[in-house]
Formats: sequence, C-alpha cells, structure tokens
Amino acid sequence: AKHRGKNRLCFYDPVMQETVTARLRLEEEIRLGTAAGEFVVLYQPQFGGDGAMLGVEALVRWQHPQRGFISPDQFINVAERAGLMPALGLHVLKSACNQLAKWARDPATAGLSIAVNVSAQQLYSDAFVEQVLDSLTRSGAPADRLTLELTESLLLDDMEEAIERMGQLRTRGIRFSIDDFGTGYSSLSYLQRLPLDQLKIDRSFVQNLPGSANGLAIVKAVIALARALDLKVIAEGVECAPQRDILDANGCHRFQGFLFARPMKVEAVEALLHDARRT
Ligand code: C2E
Ligand code: CA
Ligand code: CA
Ligand code: CA
Repeated sequence: AKHRGKNRLCFYDPVMQETVTARLRLEEEIRLGTAAGEFVVLYQPQFGGDGAMLGVEALVRWQHPQRGFISPDQFINVAERAGLMPALGLHVLKSACNQLAKWARDPATAGLSIAVNVSAQQLYSDAFVEQVLDSLTRSGAPADRLTLELTESLLLDDMEEAIERMGQLRTRGIRFSIDDFGTGYSSLSYLQRLPLDQLKIDRSFVQNLPGSANGLAIVKAVIALARALDLKVIAEGVECAPQRDILDANGCHRFQGFLFARPMKVEAVEALLHDARRT
C-alpha cells in the first residue's frame, strides 16, 4: 500500500490503521490488566509412566472483566512485542513460586514440581536471573522443584547469553526443559552446549499418533535422542490412550495432556491428587 505510484509518501491506510489502533488498545488493556491482577495462573498436571502426578505446568489466563477468560494465544505475542512479558511473566513466576512453597510444606504435595514458561524478552532482560532467585528466596520454594520451559527459537536468539543465564540458575538447582521440541527447525548441535534436564515433545508430533508412520518415526527418534543425552522426555498434548501407549512403549518418561487432566485451578489439582491416592 505504500508503493502506489506517485503516492509513495501517502502512508494512511484505513484498514491498517484500524488494526494498529486495536493492537494499541489491547496493549493498554494488558498493561492495566496486569496491574489490576486480571491474569490468573492455571496448572496442568504432568504424570509419570506409573500414573503418579509429578508436577504441573503453569499456564496463564486472562480473566477479563468484560470478555471473560482469554487464552494466552490471544495476548502472549502482543504482550511480548510490546515489551510487557517481563512484567506478566514475573507475575506468573511469583505465583508459581508461592504455590510451590505451599506444596513443599505439606508432605502430601511436597514432591510436586512446577514448570513455568519463559518468553524471550523475559530470559534476556537484565533482571531475569535475579528475579528467579528472588522469587524462590522470598517464597521459600525449593529451587529443584522449579523447571523453566524455554523454546528452541528463544535459545537460538543469543545462545551465549542463554547458556550463561541458564548456568547461573542451574547451579542453584533450577531445572530446564526445551519446550515444543522439534518445531524450531534448528540444528541439534546446540543440545550439547546447554545445561538441560528435559525435552518436551511438541503436541503437533503427538497429534500424528497413532496413525502416521512418519509421526511415529519422529517421536521414536526424539525419545531415543533424549535418552541418549541422559535427559528426561515429556510428551505434551496426549489426548488418547493409544498415544500414551505408543509413547510409553518407546520410553517416554512423562505425560501431559487432556487424556490425563486439563489446565485447572490449584484446588482441582489437589483434589485430583487426593482422589488418586485413595483409589
Ligand atoms: P505451550 O507451552 O506449548 O503449552 C501447552 C498448551 O497446550 C496449553 O495451551 C495447554 O492448555 C494445551 N494443551 C495441553 N494439553 C492438551 C491436549 O491434550 N490437547 C490440546 N489440544 N491442547 C492441550 P494454552 O494454555 O492455551 O497456552 C498456549 C501457549 O501460550 C503455551 O503453549 C505457551 O507457549 C504460552 N503460554 C501460556 N502461559 C504462558 C506464560 O505464563 N508465559 C509464557 N511466556 N507463555 C505462556
Ligand atoms: Ca510450555
Ligand atoms: Ca507446545
Ligand atoms: Ca510454546
């Protein structure tokens, strides 16, 4: 639209203007919503091969006063581009650490860990390492029960810096998991250089099971790779028993997905844990 003949300097485009306005409004709402405490954290349980709950992944939701629950796909990217993720991500991290500290005090829940998603802006902000350590210290949460989930693309933004920061946190006991593993189209060589504990097989691969031969080949290869590197491997988006069985038969250690449990409030996680122990 910028290059219509001689009108090159005429930038005004009503359609574009509308989306820009909408985005700016959304950014402002995210800013206000963060301050107003509208972002809540749900927890999706993760299970071991024996069916025991090992922990949860923290997943943020926007409880909008007018529009109700809004899923992260509708605001994370906007928040990230607007530089709002460090603040929002810190809120999630603090909530998770507070929850972890509560669980650590009760023998019935002391073994649970919490995984927290970290955005690029968050990882590379100057305050990040200190914020993580601070959140743990202030809450009294055990560091070795906190896992940070980082995507491949985020790590590749600035590998040296990422290695440095991960190293500082890992010496304190914090664990690292590669999120959406296999979707980043990256070379695998970086795996040797990072202080990792776990790979998470992306939902898009799990979804192809049980039908697709290629899907099966990929999943098998990822599990074999993780095990060869002495990493744990978790599958996300497990929706049916055949998917779980294939993953399990091929040596996947951990499972997450609607087959087991949806993202839920803390009380529901505790109820699920309680029920599982009675039966
Ligand atoms: P993700 O990290 O890959 O998280 C997994 C997503 O898959 C979650 O969507 C979860 O609700 C959904 N899911 C879990 N099991 C199943 C299943 O069996 N089937 C299907 N179809 N979906 C399943 P959600 O909660 O909407 O989050 C979407 C994405 O938003 C996350 O993808 C993550 O990238 C991002 N996100 C969520 N919370 C945070 C956060 O606190 N910080 C950051 N930086 N990103 C977040
Ligand atoms: Ca994740
Ligand atoms: Ca994913
Ligand atoms: Ca993701």
